[in-house]
Amino acid sequence: MKHIELSRRHILGAGAALAATGLAGCAGMGGGGPSIGKVVVVGGGFAGTTAAKYLRMWGGNVDVTLVERGDAFVSCPISNLVLGGHKQMTDITVPYSGLDKHGVKRVKGEVTAIDAQAKRVRLADGTQLPYDRVVVAPGIDFMPEQIGGLQAALDSGQVLHSWKAGPQTVALRKQLTDMADGGVVAVSIPKVPYRCPPGPYERACMIAGYLKTAKPKSKLLVLDANPEIQSKKALFEKAFADHYKGILEYRPNAELKEVAGGGKVAKLEFEDVRADVLNVIPPQRAGDLARTAGLVNINNRWAGVNWLTMESTAVPGVHVLGDATFPAPAMPKSGHMANQHAKVAAAAIIQLLKGEAVNTAPVVMNTCYSFVTARDVVHVASVHQYDAADKTFKAVPGSGGVSAAANQVEGRYALAWAQNIWADMLA
Ligand SMILES: Cc1cc2nc3c(=O)[nH]c(=O)nc-3n(C[C@H](O)[C@H](O)[C@H](O)COP(=O)(O)OP(=O)(O)OC[C@H]3O[C@@H](n4cnc5c(N)ncnc54)[C@H](O)[C@@H]3O)c2cc1C
Repeated sequence: MKHIELSRRHILGAGAALAATGLAGCAGMGGGGPSIGKVVVVGGGFAGTTAAKYLRMWGGNVDVTLVERGDAFVSCPISNLVLGGHKQMTDITVPYSGLDKHGVKRVKGEVTAIDAQAKRVRLADGTQLPYDRVVVAPGIDFMPEQIGGLQAALDSGQVLHSWKAGPQTVALRKQLTDMADGGVVAVSIPKVPYRCPPGPYERACMIAGYLKTAKPKSKLLVLDANPEIQSKKALFEKAFADHYKGILEYRPNAELKEVAGGGKVAKLEFEDVRADVLNVIPPQRAGDLARTAGLVNINNRWAGVNWLTMESTAVPGVHVLGDATFPAPAMPKSGHMANQHAKVAAAAIIQLLKGEAVNTAPVVMNTCYSFVTARDVVHVASVHQYDAADKTFKAVPGSGGVSAAANQVEGRYALAWAQNIWADMLA
């Protein structure tokens, strides 16, 4: 058994979360003694990496294997700054190797099936991984079939979503830099629920900021399928008016029906919009694996969970985390929340493996920062307490809130938040 070196930061970080989950006093740090069980974690995003690491840190020797298809973690948070030209891909990419020192076994591969009867995870290359409990954190996949012509436009690369950070982020940045001054960019926002409620409006600010300095004759149309801005509304409205007047035009109730004209025409209900760059954020559902594993049991889109353990309400022994879950009331689909789901699950899984009672009063929280310029930032925060009567998390009245105004101090906090959460997951 590999022994783990503890830094001061690890102890502090783990301590805070231990208190939150009720596991204080049983941090085993994964060292010594016989294994208490095998956990396979699928998906190395915000939720999966945190679960894998904390199962080891708190586990008293849990055997943990993380399966991820990608080579490195690429963060959606801060990726809008890459589109704006303020950050590079290297700034939002973190290697998975930081998990090695915690004793997490890593497998690069695609999980194709979960056999809940035999308790085995199957990979595309035929590998089978046995488990006592499995964590499924596949994030989201898209529903392009809801918009005519979208699948073909995405397949051809004419239209990009850039709602999973990686090559799509690079490609959209290139479309923006290749566009002539005087061009039109359109960003289409789907109806809620989607990943990161404020994310599209931050993206609008970053693209408009780029156009303002590099291509001032250009325009950005924000085509929102929703009746109004979905997060930090007054703050985004003020940012649009203060910084991007004459460049950014926001249109509510502008649901995209069809993509045509080689990816250059967005057909809405009553009009066609021509754009040189059309960025479509498609409607979303739980990641494909949640579907194939039979975990999707709400609205044919999301996975229902028991909020005390994050165990699926459809398939026993399978815990679902992050964006793939059907959210509790007022709970956002965010990286921060995915990280919190993971800590609730890690604590509960350890207790279940040990045959102990799980914490009956978990509390989770969320903070989402949005850049409205390269340096000015606004935040929204909330605290969510488990409600035993309704068996769900509920926002604590009076907790959290939003910034009074965009400011540069929060610009520094936002970058620090990103560094800290990436370290919490992967360092
Ligand atoms: C532009 C943008 C900005 C955002 N900004 C913020 C922000 O400021 N703050 C914030 O908190 N959140 C933000 N978010 C939201 C955040 O990115 C998501 O909520 C978060 O990524 C969800 O975490 P997750 O672990 O559920 O999914 P993901 O992070 O997407 O991780 C899922 C992982 O599973 C892997 N995977 C899926 N299926 C398989 C399979 N079958 N086999 C192997 N691997 C698989 C994927 O490769 C991926 O690595 C933003 C999102 C976007 C798009």
